[in-house]
Amino acid sequence: MEYTIYQVKGGDPDGRKFMSSDWHYNRNLRIHVGAYDNVYSGSIDGFTDAGDVLEELFEVFNIRHPADFKGHSLSVSDVVVLTEAGLYEAYFCDFDGWTEIPDFLKSEIRQCGIVKLHVCPNHCDSLFATPAHVVQTWKVDAFGNFIDEMSTDSTTHGPDDGNTWECLECGAEAEIVECLQVEVATTTSRGNAFIPVTPRGCVYWLRDGMTATEYVPIAPNDRGIPTVELDGQVFCLFELTKED
Ligand SMILES: [Zn+2]
Repeated sequence: MEYTIYQVKGGDPDGRKFMSSDWHYNRNLRIHVGAYDNVYSGSIDGFTDAGDVLEELFEVFNIRHPADFKGHSLSVSDVVVLTEAGLYEAYFCDFDGWTEIPDFLKSEIRQCGIVKLHVCPNHCDSLFATPAHVVQTWKVDAFGNFIDEMSTDSTTHGPDDGNTWECLECGAEAEIVECLQVEVATTTSRGNAFIPVTPRGCVYWLRDGMTATEYVPIAPNDRGIPTVELDGQVFCLFELTKED
């Protein structure tokens, strides 16, 4: 079983550090990953019960920290996320034990409005070639004939939707798809999901640090609920599209 320890971010504008879950609820403060730093991860074996794991971790991270642990001793307001076989369970350290907080990781889903996306009709996870408008300064003679180029290219304006965008992988002409942009930031998935306004059976995923979108098919889970897998974490589609 893997575990990750989260502690309230430095700065702590809400003053939530070392405060109980009741304190949070009384102030309508959601306990969510956005208010936390991921301070340590590891794996722990020999336990099947979450309660036993948490008890063991509490002892380890109070009495015998690993040498590379930079956080404070495990305490009230800290969160431990246990991961096994793709399942996540988040537990909040309270004065009187651990409280499960199912929404801890999922709460960092933010809708950013409708955008136009260019996609390859053949589902390539590729970039595109398209004309852009550039200006160069030339050295010219008295007639305006080109002698030499004096400046490097500078873009005056980027590509237009009216241009042809060509998939760099298969050469097909890109389609323009209107999508709801949803920012996702969980332990495993960081990036933007683009969900077509008119359903196309897929979501386009732009992982942080990547430039090309990835085609992700929507598949029903065993209860028939549409899901997408973004970087190994499975999201129900409604989690991404629901209003906050
Ligand atoms: Zn293509």
